[in-house]
Amino acid sequence: MLAPPVAVPAEHLTPHDLVAYFRCPHEMELEKSRRHRDATGVPAAVRTPADVVPLRHSPLLAPPLGAVRVNQGRLAFGAGDQLVYEDAQEDDLPVLFPPEQIRLDPRFRQAPENLVDPALGFAGRPDLVVALAGRELVPLEYKATHLFVGYHEAHGRLFDTVQAIAQCRLVEAAFGRRPRYGIILYGDAAGDGLHEGWVEVPYGEAEAGWLRYALTTVRADAVRAPVPAERNCAGCAPNGDGLCRYAAARYEGPHHRAWAAALRR
Ligand code: SF4
Repeated sequence: MLAPPVAVPAEHLTPHDLVAYFRCPHEMELEKSRRHRDATGVPAAVRTPADVVPLRHSPLLAPPLGAVRVNQGRLAFGAGDQLVYEDAQEDDLPVLFPPEQIRLDPRFRQAPENLVDPALGFAGRPDLVVALAGRELVPLEYKATHLFVGYHEAHGRLFDTVQAIAQCRLVEAAFGRRPRYGIILYGDAAGDGLHEGWVEVPYGEAEAGWLRYALTTVRADAVRAPVPAERNCAGCAPNGDGLCRYAAARYEGPHHRAWAAALRR
């Protein structure tokens, strides 16, 4: 008699996996292999075949962008708003709340503080989660090195939108309340206060549907093809480690993507 089939667990994914895949599926594959090596001492097998045909664009379609709200200036919260979650492993987060408005949820204060979505096989850590008026939850991602002027011209903003949608879903799964939107807060790398701003990325049915589509697309992709392009490769960490044989540009450092986007404006 045949043994009953064993269910194969869905591939574990994170918001960073989605962002990397959206740039270059092979980058995501190399990053996952490196993380496995760091955790176990042995790199995971990379599924990209040797005879892969590089792509011009990632197979992942862009998320909905029509209702994204762009705000110039300094982000400020009200006296009734509270900080309920903070990624303790990030050491350059902005101070947005006085001590009396910090009420970190004890469920997420034990390392590694991941927000987990068992239904979608998805986990990660927003930089911050804010409870507006003590209730409405908003995840916030901070981009310290991204100048803000010219939202739509900058190459990296679309990737930030992917991350915001993913963080909204994790907050919904972990806190049991669905955020209406997530925030991407852009820092002022020039230091003169002129380039700050933030973006509100809605999280409705269209965005939740896009996220399910994205996770399905990544898991169904058995090839994880490279997308060699200067805009991708110059800031690609596996390229910096000499791991990619398809690279279209020399590695220029971790902040290259942000700086390149700012310079193109
Ligand atoms: S170097 Fe370029 S092609 Fe290679 S993994 Fe990185 S982004 Fe993809």
